[in-house]
Amino acid sequence: SNDYRVVVFGAGGVGKSSLVLRFIKGTFRESYIPTIEDTYRQVISCNKNICTLQITDTTGSHQFPAMQRLSISKGHAFILVYSVCSKQSLEELRPIWALIKELKGDVNSIPVMLVGNKCDESTELREVSQIEGQAQATSWSISFMETSAKTNHNVTELFQELLNMEKTR
Ligand code: GDP
Ligand code: MG
Repeated sequence: SNDYRVVVFGAGGVGKSSLVLRFIKGTFRESYIPTIEDTYRQVISCNKNICTLQITDTTGSHQFPAMQRLSISKGHAFILVYSVCSKQSLEELRPIWALIKELKGDVNSIPVMLVGNKCDESTELREVSQIEGQAQATSWSISFMETSAKTNHNVTELFQELLNMEKTR
């Protein structure tokens, strides 16, 4: 099918919605509005065809287990977001990654990106270094990138990279 479904996971407050809104609408808001679950569609060109990029912005760790399983089953690619200001938020990705592996089986063929968001924050607020983030991604055999939805650092690159991974697999 020409539908490419990307699912965004991560703890509450790490910036999942901000990354998606930055990419889709080019906007950023300082306020925190908890998400129910939203899906955004964007028509893009891929492999000389038109396809629909469908991005599901999940509620985070408090998503119902059945919904989590459903999102994973339907997803083609996954973005696992933590905040570089919260080691806890990186820890919270562990069970999600385990569930993706359990439900998808051969994860080597699936585009997955570990994303350390809020890289604009001051070094005093940082709890996870870029090296630690990269090391976690390497141990899970997935890709890694630091982003800022606030300054628009690496946001387009994140989605572009996922699409490139899809093409080359
Ligand atoms: P979600 O719960 O993961 O969807 O998180 P949100 O996207 O709602 O963002 C939570 C809070 O973090 C909001 O106050 C955002 O303004 C803020 N935020 C999101 N992304 C960034 C970022 O890249 N840098 C900074 N400094 N703050 C961010
Ligand atoms: Mg949200």
